[in-house]
Amino acid sequence: MHQSGFVNIIGRPNVGKSTLMNALVGEKLSIITPKAQTTRHRIFGILNGEDFQIVFSDSPGIIIKPVSGLHEAMMKTVESSFKDGDIIMLITEPGEPIQQLEEALNKIKSLEIPKYLVLNKIDKLKKEELLPLLKHWDDQKIFDHVFPVSALKKRNTDELLRQILKDLPENPAWYPKDQLTDRPERFFVSEIIREKIFIHYKQEIPYSCEIVTEAFEEEEKIIRIHSIIYTERESQKNIIIGKKGSGIKRIGTEARKDMERFFEKKIYLELFVKVKEKWRDNPNQLRQFGY
Ligand code: GDP
Ligand code: MG
Repeated sequence: MHQSGFVNIIGRPNVGKSTLMNALVGEKLSIITPKAQTTRHRIFGILNGEDFQIVFSDSPGIIIKPVSGLHEAMMKTVESSFKDGDIIMLITEPGEPIQQLEEALNKIKSLEIPKYLVLNKIDKLKKEELLPLLKHWDDQKIFDHVFPVSALKKRNTDELLRQILKDLPENPAWYPKDQLTDRPERFFVSEIIREKIFIHYKQEIPYSCEIVTEAFEEEEKIIRIHSIIYTERESQKNIIIGKKGSGIKRIGTEARKDMERFFEKKIYLELFVKVKEKWRDNPNQLRQFGY
């Protein structure tokens, strides 16, 4: 018997969806930062075993009030996460206001697939704080299983995997068994650069940036990469570049090191910054950027 299926991971921004997917797959596929709305696209992380294949789908967080065209595009990908899939997993964290989840809960209720509630970040809780939270979710009678986990510390994530294997339908593998993700190499290059911008810049800057990797040329001993950071305004471009290029240099160095680890090869990275005015609200531009 071979089992294979899709597990959709949904939840509000910053609850730890990407951290959990990476922990379950055992690879850093989705970028993770302390800022909300880091994940913009849907991304599959694939866990392969001899007789199973679990395809996890990480998605942007559920945004209550979209304020830009980019947000709307991100929410469409969240919508699609409700509809397809063999198992749905809602991630929440201690202290998250339940009213914010109402719409998501209503959608989940109407699904006829196994439903998991994952209470993440339990490493932040005292033991006596955990039980009432678990009881609260049990009482809702929406979910088939409630899992308290810490994605960061990989606590209880094995239990979660065991349950998934119980619920996973009998199917042939949907992807080649050596494949880890549905995304091409260029996607990861751009995401690694974007992560550095999220880490080092404040306020609007990270949200105003989009990365396009124009070249990815793999040679025997080195990969040559050419990427462009698009900002919405000239002033943002100057901030990214920094004094005497110090900002862009830092992004480049840190990103290159991560890429060398990810691709296990020496990397030559060329980075440019350009302005694409108001790209977040330009439908054509959003399409070109792959939203
Ligand atoms: P996403 O927006 O839902 O994908 O959330 P991320 O995976 O990007 O995580 C958001 C923040 O929460 C990051 O700073 C993570 O390091 C942190 N985080 C994720 N999981 C845990 C956890 O189990 N415990 C703690 N303490 N922090 C976590
Ligand atoms: Mg994420």
